[in-house]
Amino acid sequence: MMDTLFSKIIARQIPADIVYEDELCLAFRDINPQAPVHILIIPKNPIPKVIDATEADKDLLGHLLIVAGKIAKNEGHEEAFRLVINNGENAGQSVFHLHVHILAGRNFNWPPG
Ligand code: AMP
Repeated sequence: MMDTLFSKIIARQIPADIVYEDELCLAFRDINPQAPVHILIIPKNPIPKVIDATEADKDLLGHLLIVAGKIAKNEGHEEAFRLVINNGENAGQSVFHLHVHILAGRNFNWPPG
């Protein structure tokens, strides 16, 4: 797989405002926030899109959600936050290194745009 800029953030070749790290994932603030809190969680082992994940990734994917909840809580938003994963360009994916958006700090509409 091609290196994306998120791989460069993991390698500390590009700066980022990192809020959480463990052996499996890294979380940092989105450079173009869509809410008062907008954090991205990425697996260190890059998977381009959700559709590329396999059974072997199920613990990792579960871990990303558990970490997302912990980060939302740390940010003071355990009552209300939204998680988004865009899969594919037409769904809004622009960086092809799977990531979970954590959005919080404002009200969100449903259905989403
Ligand atoms: P997506 O459109 O779902 O692929 O999300 C990619 C996200 O990465 C967007 O919300 C961008 O604002 C964000 N982004 C792009 N470059 C950076 C960067 N260098 N640091 C932090 N976030 C970034």
